[in-house]
Amino acid sequence: MAVSNVETSGLEAGKVNLLGLPESKLVAFFESMGEKRFRAAQVLKWIHQLGVDDFDEMTNISKPLREKLKQRCEIVAPEVLEQLDSTDGTRKFLIRVSGGSVVETVFIPEGERGTLCVSSQVGCSLDCSFCATGKQGFNRDLTAAEIIGQVWIAAKSFGQLVAGGPRRVTNVVMMGMGEPLMNFDNVVDSMNLMMHDNAYGISKRRVTLSTSGVVPQLDRLGEYTDACLAISLHAPNDELRNELVPINRKYPIAMLLDSAQRYIAGLPDTHRKITIEYTLIDHVNDRPEHARQLAELLREVPVKINLIPFNPFNLSNYKRVSNNALRRFQDILIAEGFITTVRTTRGDDIDAACGQLAGTVNDITKRSERYRANFVKDEPITFVSQ
Ligand code: SF4
Repeated sequence: MAVSNVETSGLEAGKVNLLGLPESKLVAFFESMGEKRFRAAQVLKWIHQLGVDDFDEMTNISKPLREKLKQRCEIVAPEVLEQLDSTDGTRKFLIRVSGGSVVETVFIPEGERGTLCVSSQVGCSLDCSFCATGKQGFNRDLTAAEIIGQVWIAAKSFGQLVAGGPRRVTNVVMMGMGEPLMNFDNVVDSMNLMMHDNAYGISKRRVTLSTSGVVPQLDRLGEYTDACLAISLHAPNDELRNELVPINRKYPIAMLLDSAQRYIAGLPDTHRKITIEYTLIDHVNDRPEHARQLAELLREVPVKINLIPFNPFNLSNYKRVSNNALRRFQDILIAEGFITTVRTTRGDDIDAACGQLAGTVNDITKRSERYRANFVKDEPITFVSQ
């Protein structure tokens, strides 16, 4: 696992927030206190399987150790500002993180399946032209506790974190606000908790990281996780993708697909496919020639394609794809032999649909550019104005 410092909460200075520690770090933490390793598994279960945030409720831990934990640690999830329930069963949480910004987390039920769309950053520095989050600018990375805290909050809201409670969160997609690979260590720690048997125990086939293409970090990902991978592609050629997803100017499509294929090829189980996300925007990337180019581009790549009709929002002039163009695009890809699904718009009445997550980001200054410069050193990206 990636090793970073254990995070301390700003609420009680100096205290370690155990919510965001994966088992390896929790083991190291207990050993540093002179305690046995198995305490980590016990505490993980209390926090993530039973939703306990009070050390006094951890009855299989001795009183003296509980007292020690109270002095040195805390279990603090971010604050739920508001919970919005859509008529279609979608639930959106507005979550206030330290510093006052608000991020969004969305739960989408579909039969037996319940998918939680989790945010990884406050805002985003990558400024994709069709994305409401990108328009908010960037404030900061979420901590591991703030990322896994979204799963904790959602599971708790459905009564999942009580003994025998129904499992409602069956899938997690790192597709909310932010670019997950730009917050690498915290995202990896959180995904580790999502999949760990002593925490949420979600199958590696049901946890998906979605990236717009931060290739150097994608090249490292396989050393830390074997979760599923989705690529936010949105265009079949570099010229168009440079406009829609500006990081493409630094890491063009061929480089990105190569890196994604290396990740998939390195997974222990075979037959895994990369999910290609393609947001269809009216008269931008929705023509039959785009579909044919996409088919050509992906012919040798193990993929399934997910088409996402663009969801309009205030700061964008883009329009939703017409039903005819959507059907035509899908038909071409299916005829070319690709598994191609269309993501149904959910939670429209609570602004929870894909690309609509905006939250409230406290910083729309030059911070995005400074942050991005850590990743894009030699050739600053020129952003395309709307
Ligand atoms: S699509 Fe993803 S990477 Fe692009 S601006 Fe939005 S959140 Fe950031």
